[in-house]
Amino acid sequence: MFLEIKDVEKYYESGTTHTQVLNKVSVSIENGERCVILGPSGSGKSTLLNVIGGLDQVDSGTITIENKEISKLKSKELSLYRRDYVGFIFQFYNLIPNLTVRENIQVLEFLANNPLNIEELLDTLGLAEHKNKFPSQLSGGQQQRCAIARALVKNPKLLLCDEPTGALDYSTSIEMLILMEQINEKFGTTMLIVTHNTAIKDMVHKVIKIKDGRVVEDYRNDTLIPAK
Ligand code: ADP
Ligand code: ADP
Repeated sequence: MFLEIKDVEKYYESGTTHTQVLNKVSVSIENGERCVILGPSGSGKSTLLNVIGGLDQVDSGTITIENKEISKLKSKELSLYRRDYVGFIFQFYNLIPNLTVRENIQVLEFLANNPLNIEELLDTLGLAEHKNKFPSQLSGGQQQRCAIARALVKNPKLLLCDEPTGALDYSTSIEMLILMEQINEKFGTTMLIVTHNTAIKDMVHKVIKIKDGRVVEDYRNDTLIPAK
């Protein structure tokens, strides 16, 4: 198993209130799978992505990736894990406004041990003709493609996407999901995608639904060819 999440619990304290955000979450994901996390707003989806990506720590339970227990890592090791292993994509593209498309991608290329070829990535993502433009000169869909290229250039094993289509119109959202499907097939990157876009259900290997911090449904999609 590539990713194994077992009995994960997470609490937030604010003032005197003590909120449980993840309640005994257990999920497993195979190498190369595309996986969607669905659920109402406030159900704990982002928190789950954040603990998997090492941006936040669990209160109990374990997260194991390729037999490495990341829920045990200290901050230095966790930072290396994020750098070497994980790509992040968010609803708002978080591009650096005064750098071009190519330069935005290069920023993370410099951090990588084994970067992908930028020109090939620009081609794959349909950005070759836009590489010298600044983010403000691009459409939302093009900015998100740039953010995807930036996350991928490190050649991460795991791509975590938090509402990647949240700021896009419907047809651009569908294009983006198709593009992510193509990327998964081309690079074999395991993907976890949080979205409200239920059209994605037929495009992923695995569907996980959460509600009030609990997994309420978890199934593999038999109509798709399993991940290699
Ligand atoms: P979702 O992504 O499903 O909308 P989140 O994981 O963002 O849900 O949030 C789940 C719950 O945890 C919400 O009730 C939210 O208010 C709470 N929460 C999230 N982050 C924090 C935080 N840093 N401090 C306190 N509460 C938080
Ligand atoms: P640090 O380890 O110095 O605390 P961060 O937590 O900010 O650094 O980021 C760790 C790694 O996560 C970065 O090296 C980068 O690869 C990845 N990362 C952070 N933010 C983004 C982003 N907006 N887009 C893509 N990858 C990101």
